[in-house]
Amino acid sequence: TPAIRPLIAGNWKMHGTSASLGELKAIAEGFAGAAGQGADGLVCVPATLLSRAVEAVRGTPLAIGAQDCHAAESGAHTGDIAAGMIADCGATHVIVGHSERRTDHGESDAEVAAKAAAAWRAGLVAMICLGETRAEREAGETLAVLSRQLAGSVPEGATAANTVIAYEPVWAIGTGLTPTVEDVEEAHAHLRTELETRFGAEGGRMRLLYGGSVKPANAHELLSVANVDGALVGGASLKAVDFLGIASAV
Ligand code: PEP
Repeated sequence: TPAIRPLIAGNWKMHGTSASLGELKAIAEGFAGAAGQGADGLVCVPATLLSRAVEAVRGTPLAIGAQDCHAAESGAHTGDIAAGMIADCGATHVIVGHSERRTDHGESDAEVAAKAAAAWRAGLVAMICLGETRAEREAGETLAVLSRQLAGSVPEGATAANTVIAYEPVWAIGTGLTPTVEDVEEAHAHLRTELETRFGAEGGRMRLLYGGSVKPANAHELLSVANVDGALVGGASLKAVDFLGIASAV
């Protein structure tokens, strides 16, 4: 099987105003140069910045994404954003099922799957997030949780072109803690097997990102693990020097 080109994806979460567009431009210029040699780049910005972010990176290889979408095409859903609106801004990706959405907004696997399907209908790539909590890991349930979330959150019809899977142990997000290389390898091998079982050869080509406290200092080690096809980066995506440092570690 041909190697999968890595994707280094940033998640700005609820950070960023027009003052942040300069940093975004610096990231885009990095991916137009050395950082883009070995990896594709994506930054998922707050919805308020989508249009201006797309404008700011125009002509560079950096892709722009959103952080959530509603499952419906339109309707009486005050404050929500439809996948088609995200696409209309010129963005190409949307994160669905991030653990902060699952926790803060009680999103279920079924809701996440409906959002992924909505993203596809709008022509967006869905980045579907999953991962175990600390309690689930300590109870030895990690692989069972990943199987359940993959089965429930990834709809039929997933392809390497329309879907990216991000494995993010909840206890590693924003904490500075990371799993051991062996634990990352085990989780990714498990997810790869599940994807191939469900989607055949297509599942073998789908990008499987690791997320959770990825920094320039640990990026090379994490990105060298088998079946790790890139990283989803929160805190370290806010500064171009850090994010480009991670991309350069591929
Ligand atoms: C994330 O938000 O998906 C994430 C991995 O955050 P951090 O890199 O800050 O742990």
